[in-house]
Amino acid sequence: MNDSPNIILYAIPFFVVAMSLEVYLVSKEGMNKYETKDALSSIAMGIGNTLLGFLSKIIVFACLFYVYTHFRLFTIPVVWWSLILLLFFDDFTYYWFHRISHECRLFWASHVVHHSSQHYNLSTAVRQTWSGGFYSFVFWLWLPIIGFHPGLIMLQMSISLIYQFFIHTETIDKLPKWIEAIMNTPSHHRVHHGSNPIYLDRNHAGIFIIWDKLFNTFQPELKEEKVIYGLTENITTYNPIKIALIEWVNLFKDAFTGKKSFLSRLKYFINPPGWKDDGTGKLSNDIREEWLNNKKNAS
Ligand SMILES: [Zn+2]
Ligand SMILES: [Zn+2]
Repeated sequence: MNDSPNIILYAIPFFVVAMSLEVYLVSKEGMNKYETKDALSSIAMGIGNTLLGFLSKIIVFACLFYVYTHFRLFTIPVVWWSLILLLFFDDFTYYWFHRISHECRLFWASHVVHHSSQHYNLSTAVRQTWSGGFYSFVFWLWLPIIGFHPGLIMLQMSISLIYQFFIHTETIDKLPKWIEAIMNTPSHHRVHHGSNPIYLDRNHAGIFIIWDKLFNTFQPELKEEKVIYGLTENITTYNPIKIALIEWVNLFKDAFTGKKSFLSRLKYFINPPGWKDDGTGKLSNDIREEWLNNKKNAS
């Protein structure tokens, strides 16, 4: 049924070669080294994601295919212009999926995994969710409705992930200006992994950085503000199962313990991470604005 090849599997040898090269480069140049435990837990998350992907991708394909056969408005042919269109449509979808993964706790519960390392290297790229693959595809459902073939959509989603693998590195500083202006780059994505207030929830792009510029979430990497990787409250485990489940457990605890209204319980799933029903929660927007105000007052 699924006639799109799983190109991520073919990319794995290139991932391994690139990672080995990076380990060598950072050891020479006095950059942040790989931490064995951290890298191994990232790789374990990647392996789990790939294995669960065999199941989730069947479900995703079946859902996209059902929508394509029952509800599609047009039939878009596989020609050069439709491939270019799909590249941009998929990337636009990825931006909103990724942004909402940071702004809605139901999606953050799975996406947080990718941000749970305090290191930034190619191994961080494969630190991937075990749960997201089963429900994040809802953002892509509009593409089979307008008539893109599900196999092609899934191929484009994989191409995007492979592109994004290579930007998880400190070995590349800034690329030429015109590339930094249009494309998502190592520098832009370092910002995305930053826990510094000014970098919180910025640069959600997949392949093109244009969406962040268009929708006001762009933040360039600043020389005077070195990126501190990780979460505002970091996890303290290298156990892959715990990494995969920790935020789900916290979310269900927050929603279903204590005395609160049904609506409050529901809001824990919908509102941003950090939100609390008693109003004491701090959201990333609050943290960033407070920091910017302090900076303004200090100068
Ligand atoms: Zn993210
Ligand atoms: Zn990343």
